[in-house]
Amino acid sequence: MNGRAQAGHATTREGSDGDSHPIDVAIVGGGIIGLAQAHELLRRGFRVALFESHVSCATQASHANGGQISAESATPWMSPQIRRELPRWLFDRHRPVSLQPLRMGWGTLPWLASALGNTSQRRYLVNHSALHTLARYSLGIWKDVEADLATQLVPGSGVLYLYRSRREWDRAQALLARERDLAIRVETLDPDGCLKRMPLLRQSKIQAAGGFWYPDDRFGDCAAACDKLLMHLTRNGARVHMDEAVRAIEPGQGFVVLVTGRARYRVGQVVIAAGVGSAALARTAAIRLPICPVKGYTRTYPAPPLACEGPAFADLSRKVVFTPLGDRLRAAGMAVFGGFDDRPDEQYLSRIHDTAIDWLPGLRDTASQLDWACLRAMTPDGLPILGAVGSAGIFLNVGHGPLGWTLAAGAARIVADEIESGKHAGAIDSAPFRLDRDRRSAGWCVFARVSPAG
Ligand SMILES: Cc1cc2nc3c(=O)[nH]c(=O)nc-3n(C[C@H](O)[C@H](O)[C@H](O)COP(=O)(O)OP(=O)(O)OC[C@H]3O[C@@H](n4cnc5c(N)ncnc54)[C@H](O)[C@@H]3O)c2cc1C
Repeated sequence: MNGRAQAGHATTREGSDGDSHPIDVAIVGGGIIGLAQAHELLRRGFRVALFESHVSCATQASHANGGQISAESATPWMSPQIRRELPRWLFDRHRPVSLQPLRMGWGTLPWLASALGNTSQRRYLVNHSALHTLARYSLGIWKDVEADLATQLVPGSGVLYLYRSRREWDRAQALLARERDLAIRVETLDPDGCLKRMPLLRQSKIQAAGGFWYPDDRFGDCAAACDKLLMHLTRNGARVHMDEAVRAIEPGQGFVVLVTGRARYRVGQVVIAAGVGSAALARTAAIRLPICPVKGYTRTYPAPPLACEGPAFADLSRKVVFTPLGDRLRAAGMAVFGGFDDRPDEQYLSRIHDTAIDWLPGLRDTASQLDWACLRAMTPDGLPILGAVGSAGIFLNVGHGPLGWTLAAGAARIVADEIESGKHAGAIDSAPFRLDRDRRSAGWCVFARVSPAG
């Protein structure tokens, strides 16, 4: 089907400089989500324009993330296990979660209440099923994108999950056993099995109590994939507006106006894919999004020789992931609830380093090449928000939290299906990802003080 014919509304610049370019869909945000969205729409014949507030793409959450495509291992953060661990974490220096009440702001409270509600066994199983379906679907579509770009975006395969204590591992197995109907492709490994899967761990200071092997999970450099997508878009006729923040979205009758610092653009449809900036932007169109910024950290080491070969692995007790990226090894973790401040803090970076040298003692005196902190756009249920909101031509592709690299390709296809067909249709059930009343209510007062980027 020709998307152009379907979209119907050409975009014009409302200024008087005559610089008018017909565009069907505008995408706000030049991270992995916006770029994957633009690619999917361009592939279908839509004329697309991408707006990014920074001078280049992938400078925010997509810049130096953990690099893992968790096709089979994706789980929502809000789980019965988290609820059980919270009291212990209050006293553990290496706790993966940190709350900074004075920085978070009161607006975070309804979000936190809703997140806690999602830690029940019942909610977790529902959310996990939806997330797993989308993650698996997305992996298939990443393969299509690789074929279309004639390049590899996610070269590595196989991820090993490790547990430090027998108790945690037993609980994880029990939870997995309850979810047999998801048919997750996973192998359960005893301590010896973990070492066989990753002999490099024989050097570790600690021994895993057990683990899981996910053969279908993949890994690769998200920022490099963004670069390749951007190059493909510009070569194939997409218009890319860098350094041009969208300040407001004004719904019209059969069109939408994007207001930037440079011009007003009249477009047929708009997709908001602006990461943690999405809530502020959506609010200009009277849409409340339940998105909370959660800071994460990464360190990038020159990889010890054997670590370059993989597999990727993760310390599930401390929620730190390790990913070989060519001649580098990326370690990523931490969830700090502290508002929109994205500056790195040495104490969290050193916690990641401590965990890294437990498993790979050779890294002890290795300096990180890149220390980085960034904000994940989290929803209380851990599911992204996808699809049309109202009937004004505004679509959402937001709230991917810790899994945006994993979910980007599948999420882009779901939103593009809806833009093209005008209805909620596609290969998987996308109903769990809609912004329904329950999900909206958690965003009623989140971050009322934040204004859109730019
Ligand atoms: C420490 C860490 C580790 C992670 N590890 C993994 C992992 O291993 N696997 C995985 O799947 N995911 C991982 N993630 C999550 C993943 O990185 C994110 O979900 C993903 O990058 C989100 O992409 P995005 O495009 O929505 O956001 P971003 O990359 O933040 O892009 C949003 C863009 O929108 C732009 N923008 C915002 N407002 C406006 C505006 N008003 N106008 C124009 N532009 C605007 C911003 O400048 C930005 O470039 C990790 C995240 C972190 C923080």
